[in-house]
Amino acid sequence: MKLSVWTYEGPPHVGAIRVATGMKKVHLVLHAPQGDTYADLLFTMIERRNHRPPVTYTTFQARDLGSDTATLFKDACLEAYERFKPDLLLVGASCTAELIQDDPGGLAEALGLPVPVVALELPSYQRKENFGADETFYQIVRKLAHPVERSSEITCNLIGPTALGFRHRDDIVEITKLLNEVGVQVNVCAPMHATPDDITNLGRAHFNVLMYPETGETACRHMERTLGLPFTKTVPIGVSATKEFVEEVLGIIGRSAGESSIASRLPWYSASVDSTYLTGKRVFIFGDGSHVMTAARIAKEEIGFDVVGVGCYNREMARPVRAMAKEFGLDALITEDYLEVEAAIADLSPELILGTQMERHIGKRLGIPCAVISAPVHVQDFPARYSPQMGAEGANVIFDTWVHPLVMGLEEHLLTMFREDFEFSDTAGPSHHAAHSPNQEIVDQPASVTASDQGANVIWLSDAEKELRKIPFFVRGKARRNTEKYATDRGVAQISIETLYEAKAHYAR
Ligand code: SF4
Repeated sequence: MKLSVWTYEGPPHVGAIRVATGMKKVHLVLHAPQGDTYADLLFTMIERRNHRPPVTYTTFQARDLGSDTATLFKDACLEAYERFKPDLLLVGASCTAELIQDDPGGLAEALGLPVPVVALELPSYQRKENFGADETFYQIVRKLAHPVERSSEITCNLIGPTALGFRHRDDIVEITKLLNEVGVQVNVCAPMHATPDDITNLGRAHFNVLMYPETGETACRHMERTLGLPFTKTVPIGVSATKEFVEEVLGIIGRSAGESSIASRLPWYSASVDSTYLTGKRVFIFGDGSHVMTAARIAKEEIGFDVVGVGCYNREMARPVRAMAKEFGLDALITEDYLEVEAAIADLSPELILGTQMERHIGKRLGIPCAVISAPVHVQDFPARYSPQMGAEGANVIFDTWVHPLVMGLEEHLLTMFREDFEFSDTAGPSHHAAHSPNQEIVDQPASVTASDQGANVIWLSDAEKELRKIPFFVRGKARRNTEKYATDRGVAQISIETLYEAKAHYAR
């Protein structure tokens, strides 16, 4: 048992629903208790789809458990087939149904339906949503994709986008445009937009573009083995990554790389003088592995932030995230426990958090600005406007999104100069972002007695407390913690102005 209030990922059957909903002419029959239809809302409300997901739930109740739940499942399959006439039927079980072990695959096979049936094994107690999507798509490809003649022109498949994917809709458009510019047409985009027929034709392409390793890597590896399709390893988020991606594509199709130029505004915007104040801003990055790794690179190399913490919630990506963190001189935080993430953020006191919907809440509580870079996300991150993360336009979107929550350069300067001003006071926060003004109660409590990490109590003398308030608010939390640690390490029980400056000198070394 594990006490959880927030989970970064849903159970694996939600991943299966994401694949089925992204595709066309596919239906999923899910053996699940009454109430599991809540998952529909993710698609009709958060993603704002104009139709229900193509899922039939058996919705068994307590009284059904005494009778024949297997018959219930078979009836549901027959009804779903008759009503929706899909070209492919997926069958699986949710967590509760997994316990009653009705074997959806065997039962559906026995019905002798005239369409292919893919039985999904979704270990709900060990794995999560991304695994569910990756596994479902892999099983579909395994069943339907066979070697076919290659297309005469150079084509590729886009692999990985699903329903409920963070910016998948617009990433597809952006990457298609980018590929067309280098003379590559898209054969099939899957699972999003693909029919079972399209899956049988995946082999027509010359290579695969793996857009999201979390949801498409297993299928790509399978196609590499069985269809001889190489796949791209660079996720094109950020200007440098997009350039590398283009070079990788050119390498695969046997064209010389040359100097690829990516028409993004990010490089100039971040080089322009107004961005000088961004240099060295301390940022903490958390989310799914792919988005975290690309974000860390953009933060460091393209905007000039100082990355002070990185981590991901999906263990499948733990290894590459750890390796990247090491290059940054950091230890990666691999956890699905948001309380651990919150503790790490509180400890590091970054000036900006790049994370998920959860980190937005954490940021709000701690009074630290945050921008969203990865699922899980809420409805506002399925925007009406064009907002990719990938390619040239994606880099433009990213620049605006990340800089927006920060206090602008001039404002930052004024806040520090006129601390007592009614308009530019510490508690005012970014003027263009009123709803997100930092919660100074937490960061800046004039607590005279603080329990430090080591458990000892340290007392802030009022002069020192006053002096602390002179430090700009966005680094004050860090200064407070450093000073307390310095004092506790030396057995100093009361923090005076001298202790504050000694600590400052100590950490500046
Ligand atoms: S079966 Fe799983 S997903 Fe459905 S309500 Fe129970 S725990 Fe939640």
